[in-house]
Amino acid sequence: MNIILFGPPGAGKGTQADKIVETFNLYKVSSGDLLREEVKKKSELGNKIKSIIDNGSFVPDETINNLIVKILKNKKYFNRIVFDGYPRNLNQAHNLDFLVEKHHQKISCVLSFKVDEETLVKRIVNRQICTKCGKIFNISFKPSSDENHKCGPSFLVKRSDDNEKTVLHRFQTYTEKTLPILEYYKKVNLLHEISGKAEIDQIFKEIRDIIVSLEG
Ligand code: AMP
Repeated sequence: MNIILFGPPGAGKGTQADKIVETFNLYKVSSGDLLREEVKKKSELGNKIKSIIDNGSFVPDETINNLIVKILKNKKYFNRIVFDGYPRNLNQAHNLDFLVEKHHQKISCVLSFKVDEETLVKRIVNRQICTKCGKIFNISFKPSSDENHKCGPSFLVKRSDDNEKTVLHRFQTYTEKTLPILEYYKKVNLLHEISGKAEIDQIFKEIRDIIVSLEG
C-alpha cells in the first residue's frame, strides 16, 4: 500500500511516518529530505533549492516531480511508500495519480493531521533532526536519549527553515496551495482525519487501526 501523510509543517507527519515504516515494513519518502539531499551536494540546483527552502516557499513542481518519478519507477518501493510532504499542491496530486497509474500502483489512503497553529509553532522551533539517521526529535516533547537514539547528540541539528519567521510563510503557503488538495482526496474517498494534537503513541494507535482495517 502507498500512504499519503497530509498536514501543515510541524503536524507530526515525519515522526508518524517513521513509526508506520517500522511497523508495516514500508519506506518513507519525505520530499523535504529528498530536497535537502540535493542541497547537501552544493550543486547549482542544490543552492537554488536552499534559498527557496530558507524562505519558506515551494520549490518548482518540476524539481520535486523529477525526484518523485525516480521513486515510483524503483521496484524496491513498489506499493510500499509513505509519502511525507508530497503532494503539496493540486498539480503535484495530479502528477502522483498519473505516476501511480503508470507504474501499476495505488494510493490506499490519505491521513490528514489536524493541529492548531500555536502547537505547530512550538513543535517546529524545538525540532531537532539527526544528520546521521534522519530521526526527528523535539527538545520539549520527544528529546533524544541513549534509549531512543543510538547516534548520540553530536549529530543533532536544527533545520535552517525551522524559525518563527520562515514558519509563518510556510503556513501561509500551506493554506493557499496545499489545503485545496483535501477536497480532491475527499471526493475519491481516500481521506481519513487524524487528531494530530494527541501524544505521539496515541496518534500512532489511531493510524495503525486505520492501516490494519485497510489491509483486511
Ligand atoms: P518539509 O521537510 O516537508 O517541511 O519541507 C521543507 C521545505 O522543502 C518546504 O518548506 C519547501 O520549501 C520544500 N518542499 C518540500 N516538499 C515540497 C513539495 N512537495 N513541493 C514543493 N516544495 C517542497
